[in-house]
Amino acid sequence: MNAQNTYPPSWYAASATHLAEQPVLQGRVDADVCILGAGYTGLSAALELAEAGYRVVVLEAERIGWGASGRNGGQAIVGFGCGETALESLVGFDDARRMFDLSREGLQWLQARIRKHGIACDWRDGHASVPIKPRQQRELLAMVEDANTRYDYPVQWWSREQLREQLASDRYLGALYDPHSGHLHPLEYALGLARAALAAGVRIFEHSKATALVRGDKPVFRTAQGEVHCDFAVLAGNALVHGIAPELDAKIMPVGTYIGATVPLGEERAQALIRNDMAVADTNWALDYFRRSRDHRLLFGGRASYSRLAPPDLRGGMARRMRQVFPQLADVEIEYVWGGYIDISLNRAPHFGRLTPNVYFAQGFSGHGVIATGLAGKLISEAIRGQSERLDLFARIPHRPFPGGRALRTPMLVAAMAWFKLRDALW
Ligand SMILES: Cc1cc2nc3c(=O)[nH]c(=O)nc-3n(C[C@H](O)[C@H](O)[C@H](O)COP(=O)(O)OP(=O)(O)OC[C@H]3O[C@@H](n4cnc5c(N)ncnc54)[C@H](O)[C@@H]3O)c2cc1C
Repeated sequence: MNAQNTYPPSWYAASATHLAEQPVLQGRVDADVCILGAGYTGLSAALELAEAGYRVVVLEAERIGWGASGRNGGQAIVGFGCGETALESLVGFDDARRMFDLSREGLQWLQARIRKHGIACDWRDGHASVPIKPRQQRELLAMVEDANTRYDYPVQWWSREQLREQLASDRYLGALYDPHSGHLHPLEYALGLARAALAAGVRIFEHSKATALVRGDKPVFRTAQGEVHCDFAVLAGNALVHGIAPELDAKIMPVGTYIGATVPLGEERAQALIRNDMAVADTNWALDYFRRSRDHRLLFGGRASYSRLAPPDLRGGMARRMRQVFPQLADVEIEYVWGGYIDISLNRAPHFGRLTPNVYFAQGFSGHGVIATGLAGKLISEAIRGQSERLDLFARIPHRPFPGGRALRTPMLVAAMAWFKLRDALW
């Protein structure tokens, strides 16, 4: 089968340079570290550890980058899903500031990996957070002030007119422009990390779903046809991993989110939409986010499903949202539409740490994982190598299970999200 057809259909799967399928795990394998999940988190940890001389195995239920890492909006944004104010209320300013600085380091690390391994993932500088409502504008102005003063992170406020010079839309009141954040081709980045990891000696097994983790001095991952015995286990399965560590399952909720790719617009028409080629996201609870692709399409993300069901008429709904932003695209068809799951934590803060002295995990990226996953992988690799201070910093963030237990947490979340969407609609 053509490699791209083993991924869910998307513009990413159609445009990436694919890797040959990796073997299925069969029989017993021994490793220093075994990692569940070949997304950015697992691959980043694997690469770091292999470069440090560890024997590393990665188990992937489907294919490399098959999860959120191969499907996302590609917006690589410094910071975390909950925002700095929420993080300060959880851990205090000093720790929140240290985490933010680590996120900046995560961006540098991501860019260094792209350079070092020659990953052709179309990195572009620049990200704009754009308000639709005056309340959102006030919030963003406060964030600009905070970033520049208390976080020593230089970002700009653009007036409506300044934004209009770069973005051909009248929908927004201005922008928080961050010149350091940017965007990339998500699946190419995941596959590039995997190529680097394989070259460093990592063994990746695809179509090898972990069905159980036996904890102990030497943890054992079991799959249908094999098992991996290791000194350290890492859980990097994100939104859809289930049943391996129930205490982690209870603290995240999978939420569906969706992206459409237009037909190619031609260079001139695409450039006219976003002149400086930045990524853009509004600040609604159910947000719209968009950017240009290398082949001059508009990639437009939006719509969320808190109920695990894909929204009805996904393609039509996506086209309507896109035309609210760019009415000039009334004649433009959406060629691809796809979705994936983000792993939200109750407070939207990242949830990293260890379950036992030799079982590590990272989850709760809450839709803000392109940079934070690589950071998590690096911090886990540091901890396995004996330096756990920076991982322990994140492990201090308090996390609670979603209320309602397995039966009620989805309906309760749907109700809560309906409230946030209503707030965005009203003021
Ligand atoms: C549509 C969409 C848009 C997004 N947009 C953005 C964005 O613009 N910016 C941003 O910062 N973030 C975005 N995100 C979030 C971001 O993509 C994720 O936070 C990030 O990719 C998570 O990486 P990960 O490695 O932790 O998980 P994943 O990439 O999901 O990898 C986990 C892997 O584990 C595998 N797995 C699960 N269970 C098992 C098992 N039992 N055994 C073996 N393997 C298993 C899965 O198959 C999967 O490949 C978006 C997410 C989605 C879905």
